[in-house]
Amino acid sequence: MLQAIMTQPGTIEFREVPIPEVKSNQIKIKIKRIGVCGSDVHVNHGKHPYTSYPVVQGHEISAEVVEIGSDVKHVAIGDKVTIQPQVVCGKCYPCTHGMYNDCEELKVMGFQTTGMASEYFVVDANKAIALPEGMSWEQGAFIEPLAVAVHAVRRAGDIKGKRVLVLGGGPIGNLVSQTAKAMGAEAVLISELSPYRLEVARRCGIKTVDAQNEDLLEAIYQHFGADKADYIFECIGINPTMKQAIDYARKGSTIVVVGVFADLGAINMGFVQDHELSLVGSAMYREEDYIKAIELVKEQRIEVDLLVTHRVKFGDYAEAYKIIDEQKDKAMKVIIEMEE
Ligand SMILES: [Zn+2]
Ligand SMILES: [Zn+2]
Repeated sequence: MLQAIMTQPGTIEFREVPIPEVKSNQIKIKIKRIGVCGSDVHVNHGKHPYTSYPVVQGHEISAEVVEIGSDVKHVAIGDKVTIQPQVVCGKCYPCTHGMYNDCEELKVMGFQTTGMASEYFVVDANKAIALPEGMSWEQGAFIEPLAVAVHAVRRAGDIKGKRVLVLGGGPIGNLVSQTAKAMGAEAVLISELSPYRLEVARRCGIKTVDAQNEDLLEAIYQHFGADKADYIFECIGINPTMKQAIDYARKGSTIVVVGVFADLGAINMGFVQDHELSLVGSAMYREEDYIKAIELVKEQRIEVDLLVTHRVKFGDYAEAYKIIDEQKDKAMKVIIEMEE
């Protein structure tokens, strides 16, 4: 089978490699779609702190099951699935306390272990999560990033009736906003610089504030009233938006840090203390977040199709990164399509 290997930052080579043998607890899947995400872009630029080369990417996928091991019961040949890309130890404190997404030995497919950028992939069956029959392959590839959003919303606490500010309108900020709304938030506002991403957010039914030309604090009062936002989600991973979150929070607000920070954060700890702010991190997801993500897409409560801006054939994998580098904010989600 053909496998796409990033041999060094910015270079993808295709190699013919044997398909691994399917062990009794494993399945073989035929990959259908692969989503490219911000972390992949960091790997492409050689700026991902926990990835070495060569690396096979691909962690946002949809696939068809084509072979199952003798002990596999919960998936069948022909099933549509997506894969949880975390490889965990099962022994550490987080793993033994229901928080395996925080495993001390966590490896993620596509970063620290082989990803799914190949025609076929052999994987432990317990990583497979069934997709409903009617879901498109493209929607299936969105379940992983949507699970990030579901987990972030759950980390905030009970979202029902809450007023929610989301900083950043990229794919994750957009999905966090939509998820917050779908799970019961009373009002959701996205703050974003890019006119294009603001437009996509509006088309997804989210209220927006143009961070370039409008005053964010004024917009907060206008949309939420004097009590401002109950929950704030930072979905960019930079100091200026983290500062906004701390400065504009109401006393007692919860701030969820979803963005991945490359630099050390510098925040006003005085406000965190005096305003009794809750600062909460959110990292990846667990199986229950996948299940919820699938339910939200199935019930058509989340718009994912509008987020797809480009589609690239598997053989043109590197083209995806070229598009992302050149189009910048106009590339929201680039989808790699496998040959049928
Ligand atoms: Zn990702
Ligand atoms: Zn562990």
